[in-house]
Amino acid sequence: MLARTDYLTKVYSLGHSLDVYERHVQGYQAARKVLLTMTREQVVEEAKKANIRGRGGAGFPMGIKWSFMRPHPTKPAYLVINADEGEPGTHKDRTLMELNPHSIVEGCIIGCYAIGANVAYIYVRDELHLSKERLWGAIREARAKGYLGKTPFGKNFPVEVYVHTGAGAYICGEETSLLNSLEGRRGEPRLKPPFPAQAGAFGCPTTVNNLETIATVPAAFMLGCENYSKLSALHHIGDGGVRLYGINGHVKKPCVVELACGPTINELIYDIGGGILGDKPLLCVIPGGSSTPLLRADEVVNAPDEKSPMHAWHGKNVMDVPLGVDTMRNVGTMLGTCCVTVMAEGTDPVLAMLNLMQFYHHESCGQCTPCREGSAWLDRTVQKLYDGNGTIEDIDLLADIANNIMGNTICAFGEGTAMPALGFLKKFKREFEEYATGARTKAQARLTVD
Ligand code: SF4
Repeated sequence: MLARTDYLTKVYSLGHSLDVYERHVQGYQAARKVLLTMTREQVVEEAKKANIRGRGGAGFPMGIKWSFMRPHPTKPAYLVINADEGEPGTHKDRTLMELNPHSIVEGCIIGCYAIGANVAYIYVRDELHLSKERLWGAIREARAKGYLGKTPFGKNFPVEVYVHTGAGAYICGEETSLLNSLEGRRGEPRLKPPFPAQAGAFGCPTTVNNLETIATVPAAFMLGCENYSKLSALHHIGDGGVRLYGINGHVKKPCVVELACGPTINELIYDIGGGILGDKPLLCVIPGGSSTPLLRADEVVNAPDEKSPMHAWHGKNVMDVPLGVDTMRNVGTMLGTCCVTVMAEGTDPVLAMLNLMQFYHHESCGQCTPCREGSAWLDRTVQKLYDGNGTIEDIDLLADIANNIMGNTICAFGEGTAMPALGFLKKFKREFEEYATGARTKAQARLTVD
């Protein structure tokens, strides 16, 4: 059985107030220690030892990201927290905001100090009413106690945290699009470079951190960053600490749970999620939000080369590989947001892909042709197959469209559309062919378990 960790989630059952946060998890002691005893440079160096890989999807090391920030002679710096969680199947940041908002505010204080910013913006979807209320409440309490403001903990380092609400566009989860939206512009991704550390919010040096990433910071500094990193089963490959794992889809107990980094998919499904609905066999999983290519239940790891980082898992079922940023990359997918969508046998993969392509078509911001037109064509072509009007050539056309999106767009949304499409086409070729030949029809298609 997996050991649950408590660093982010201990206060869940007790309440979300400042009082609970201070009494039960030594709340704000990490920020106090950092501001009163460490220099900015020391904080960044210590943070690197935590091996916190960004929890938003890309998995970039947080400490290294902080180190990119350099004081500008005339411009202020900003910390921006990305809580625009809109990826289908992903539901962890919302849980964190609702149940432990003070870990986020405290993380913002430490993050601001590390990068030399006096202001942090938390960008939240407007429809997440309870999340906003809890964050506003936590900021009010922290300000009243003197943890925010002109001299937090008596230190002459002003810090303010603001909640900024977005109108609910999926693309605003992309960091530069989020920055445009924060500035009151249309939420469209920017060309990079310049990167946010050079010219981010309002043209000033900016670090954008995912919400869960920043919420892990107080625990890391309380434990000591190296100790925190060692909690992870993947510490030795630079993937440290604890994470929130979401389990959804065809499991008996969908939930969000905090675990040391490195559980396997099988452990999540059977030890935490209670097994598959109706005790059906597993068909496949989408490991980290809808943009990550799916893994089939019957896949095995192929890494005969002893120098391969995956050699230890050679010949093992892919569901028994620890979930980590690099391990998932090495089995042809991504860790993404760490929210696993489980599909039981009997799920129709063509209908599942159609569902996703409709979403991406709807959410494309339309700036670049391969994404705007490609997502529309993917949607239309899968629909044609699903309706029974497709041909075998349409399956090749789908792969062709997806391959032409890859690498030809301004932001990663393009790949986020193409990769899952290619995954479905490759791993469920037979089912697509059955639709094209009339051997399968939409009358039998299911996304639910009976
Ligand atoms: Fe917009 Fe898609 Fe281009 Fe990203 S890839 S900028 S979402 S059109």
